[in-house]
Amino acid sequence: MEATFSQFYKRTPEQRLAILAETLGLSEAEQQILKHRATQGDAPLLIENYLTTYQLPEGVAVNLRVNDHEYVVPMVTEEPSVIAAASNGAKQLAKAGGITATVHSRLLTGQVVLSDVKVYASIDDWIALHQNELLEVAKQAHPSIVKRGGGPKSIRTRDLGEGFVSIDLVVDVKAAMGANMMNTMLEAIAGVVQNKLHHTTLFSILSNAGDQSLTTATVSVPVSQLADQPDKAQQVGKRIAQASRIAQLDPMRAVTHNKGIMNGVDAVVVAMGNDWRAIESAAHAYAVTDGQYRGLSQWQLEDDQLTGTLTLPLPIGIVGGATKVLPLVAINQKMAKINSPEDLMKLIAAVGLAQNFAALKALVTNGIQQGHMKMQMRSLAMSVGATPSEVSVLTKQLSNTDDPNEAQARQLLGQIRNNKET
Ligand code: NDP
Repeated sequence: MEATFSQFYKRTPEQRLAILAETLGLSEAEQQILKHRATQGDAPLLIENYLTTYQLPEGVAVNLRVNDHEYVVPMVTEEPSVIAAASNGAKQLAKAGGITATVHSRLLTGQVVLSDVKVYASIDDWIALHQNELLEVAKQAHPSIVKRGGGPKSIRTRDLGEGFVSIDLVVDVKAAMGANMMNTMLEAIAGVVQNKLHHTTLFSILSNAGDQSLTTATVSVPVSQLADQPDKAQQVGKRIAQASRIAQLDPMRAVTHNKGIMNGVDAVVVAMGNDWRAIESAAHAYAVTDGQYRGLSQWQLEDDQLTGTLTLPLPIGIVGGATKVLPLVAINQKMAKINSPEDLMKLIAAVGLAQNFAALKALVTNGIQQGHMKMQMRSLAMSVGATPSEVSVLTKQLSNTDDPNEAQARQLLGQIRNNKET
């Protein structure tokens, strides 16, 4: 096996496919699918050992109103119901006047970590004394970001205990996510620390905490809008607020509450060519800020208004990384009217809030399955090989059965085909 994959990284995608086909026994049909999906252009250069392009569906959420503007939001997801829920939530929130979104700050922090420190104060004093010099070193390491009006802003130390010290650099990364420029600056600072302070560094890398890139989305919905009858509307408002409260009290529920928010957040982050692992880790770290994992959003009922708030760390970029390599990203940015990183941060937070509203409302009224089942039936129909023209008939038939399952779907599909032939 080792010999087979020797210099694998130097092969073309076609050569890699031939090797895999032979060693893993891929059929002709499987090879054709992999070949067919392989993209020309820059995708093969984006990652290592490129083989093909894995496709996910992209749809658009509509009806989203943020800061008095209407948005169409490209979303990439494999999960049925996410885009329907986002659009539905957005429509109800638009009727209430729409979402207000605010970016609190947009800075990135990075760390140079020292180990085996005997006296923290000696490091802290040295960094404080040399901070201007260190900031200048960081600027020189990536001067183009300074020309763009950004660059290193401040430097400080933190005692991590057990002889570890973090030297934290804060950088204005302008429109980029900034991972690479930050890492370049940190390594330059690490060089100075080693040469002048004579202390070896353990590692240098950005922090994905994102707590200096916070964005808040808020909305106020008149309770009367939540159902046709006043009593029922009041009840729905109260139940949404209670469901949100449970996500503050119970980490087990908070995880699911936040997963629902991330359904929308990740779908937009992926559509915009950003690093969704970075956003996921930042969001979950933020959810545990006070030591307990809690829901990222909160809904409160006051004076006949249901008010929802969602704050998220969103260290995204609209340039750099994969944004210019994946051709769909530029089109998605255009469709969503993204002209600045702040525009994207506000949009993502607003989608997260709309998604959360739709999920909570469904959860405390009809239950989550009612909306999901139709989509699940469609997935089941497709999974047993129904053609596009058969899917809607089979979906309907499956919806009318008590316990839809794969065997039943196959049987019903067989009947549909038999009926066609006769
Ligand atoms: P790039 O390395 O592509 O850097 C962005 C570049 O865009 C800048 O260096 C700058 O180059 C150029 N640029 C053009 N216009 C602007 C503008 N208006 N504002 C700012 N920069 C501009 O990407 P990032 O540094 O943003 O890094 C993102 C990537 O790093 C992602 O793909 C991520 O997955 C990956 N990554 C993530 C890590 C993590 O999260 N822990 C770790 C390592 C990598 P110039 O000024 O020279 O023209």
